[in-house]
Amino acid sequence: MGAIAVLSGPGGVGKGTMIARLRDRLAGWTVAVSATTRAPREGERDGMEYHFVSDDEFDRLIADGALLEWARFGGNRYGTLWDSVRGPLADDRCVLLELEIHGALAVRKEFPEATLIFLHPPSLDALTSRLRQRGTDDDRRVAERMALAEWELAQADAFDHHVTNDDLDAAAAQIVRILVDAAGD
Ligand code: 5GP
Repeated sequence: MGAIAVLSGPGGVGKGTMIARLRDRLAGWTVAVSATTRAPREGERDGMEYHFVSDDEFDRLIADGALLEWARFGGNRYGTLWDSVRGPLADDRCVLLELEIHGALAVRKEFPEATLIFLHPPSLDALTSRLRQRGTDDDRRVAERMALAEWELAQADAFDHHVTNDDLDAAAAQIVRILVDAAGD
């Protein structure tokens, strides 16, 4: 039987990098591709990291009931396509979602058996410097994102597993073990 797992954590903790690291290491798992209204970053391809859609297209996905959940983040909308979850599950594959916190909690409502993994920063200081290093954010935006991160970190108790992202490879190995267990249940 397929399983469903969510990797979540505060913005800036390195979820995207972690997913890229995990991609080839997870036999039997499919990483779900979400829809977003944000513009592609350099190197991102439509249908790989995201389905990049216009605001109108996103409205239509909501109206059509095509989204399991959706959330606003950093001025853009992101949503999990039902097809990206039901497709792999129907093929007895496991599906891994990478979502901000609201999305993870919404998946738990739909799939109480989902495995929720919270990726922690090594420290609050480390998260602040990561948010600053992103370079695209001015001081006010960094302060807003830190306030959001404090709220996000306070939601960690709702998650089943906790992994600290201090060493990328060690953290990836820990997540692989959690997912192998989840698939075997
Ligand atoms: P980014 O723009 O950096 O790729 O993603 C911004 C945030 O949106 C990240 O925290 C990411 O986990 C989250 N995210 C990506 N796809 C989805 C989705 O389908 N639903 C929700 N709720 N969050 C998402």
